[in-house]
Amino acid sequence: MVNTTIKTTKSQEIFAAAQNLMPGGVSSPVRAFKSVGGQPIVFDRVNGAYIWDVDGNQYIDYVGTWGPAICGHAHPEVIAALHQALEKGTSFGAPSLLENVLAEMVIDAVPSIEMVRFVNSGTEACMAVLRLMRAFTGRDKLIKFEGCYHGHADMFLVKAGSGVATLGLPDSPGVPKSATSNTLNAPFNDLEAVKALFEENRDQIAGVILEPIVGNAGFIPPDAGFLEGLRELTQEHGALLVFDEVMTGFRIAYGGVQEKFGVTPDLTTLGKVIGGGLPVGAYGGRRDIMSMVAPNGPVYQAGTLSGNPLAMTAGIKTLELLQKPGTYDYLDSITKKLADGLLQVAKETGHPACGGQISGMFGLFFTNGPVHNYEDAKKSDTSKFGRFHRGMLERGIYLAPSQFEAGFTSIAHTEEDIEQTLKVARDVMSNL
Ligand code: PMP
Repeated sequence: MVNTTIKTTKSQEIFAAAQNLMPGGVSSPVRAFKSVGGQPIVFDRVNGAYIWDVDGNQYIDYVGTWGPAICGHAHPEVIAALHQALEKGTSFGAPSLLENVLAEMVIDAVPSIEMVRFVNSGTEACMAVLRLMRAFTGRDKLIKFEGCYHGHADMFLVKAGSGVATLGLPDSPGVPKSATSNTLNAPFNDLEAVKALFEENRDQIAGVILEPIVGNAGFIPPDAGFLEGLRELTQEHGALLVFDEVMTGFRIAYGGVQEKFGVTPDLTTLGKVIGGGLPVGAYGGRRDIMSMVAPNGPVYQAGTLSGNPLAMTAGIKTLELLQKPGTYDYLDSITKKLADGLLQVAKETGHPACGGQISGMFGLFFTNGPVHNYEDAKKSDTSKFGRFHRGMLERGIYLAPSQFEAGFTSIAHTEEDIEQTLKVARDVMSNL
């Protein structure tokens, strides 16, 4: 018999106090559980595949601090390396050997990257890459896809979906129209829409940026030929192709989606895994383009804590761990067991659902599907997802608190963790 109620007294107290201190009581919006409802959980510590809250409840974690924890939380080798690095101080604000080491690892791994610049977040990486795309091509317009997220810089905050999308109307107050007027949107997996945008905006489009496997509208893989088609279209129109692999880099394969699918973009953004749980982002790509970045070239971009020794150390150790033979086969096999199992449970308990996984990234939509883009994803029964999320949480399974987020596994997740998760899912879905 699984426990259906959890004690959340301390979580409630701390979260209530936080309301007066920080907007919504959080440092990033999704954490407030607005889209699933219910009391957010305040956490105390993480280890391996597990996370513990301030009331002492333990959960199997499928958020993995939104992707970085691919080796499991607080991996002993990462922690030991960090202890050693800490002895030498927390920041130099000057060149260090550690940057060379991580840069070399990234360049060796990611097919498109010949040179790299480290920053502190995925947002920063995407913001910088857009400036570089524009500078290199001398063009201002950008094509992105509805439902893709590239951080919170003004130019990317364009409402996904509906007819207004291509007009570039800003998603958030405070974003001036002028900041998004050059941002064009197309539905994901729709090459014809991209083709039309290129025709309508001849010689004006700097490039196309996308999550090559979408995670920020739920898990949506590219249709066969979509990435290849974008590669051809961008080349034909003298525009750049940018893969935002902040989520997928070193997760879908060691060399990211570009290695897995054999399509090489001009530029790539990274984050999450390459920081091993510390704040890091990076952008890199063709040497001729990257050579335009200051102080080599005129495109300005800088950062006080960029290349920080602690973040570099956690990143290096994490990538070393990922290089062990069998890592990605293991991730793929346990995640497949989970994703297939969830679909099977949904089917047997009578809930329309679709979903899937690639390597250590998965998703489940409460709709029959298929889901090829954000419009399809929005057909999901989000209130059912909210009840499912709560039910899972109360029985010790921590899923991302939104229907429109992908799930993440780690090499610390065991077969038993997956079996326990599926057992709980069956119980929850039987009572939704
Ligand atoms: N790009 C993608 C694909 C992301 O998933 C995210 C964050 N989830 C970002 C950019 C922004 O990264 P950060 O939160 O580190 O600013």
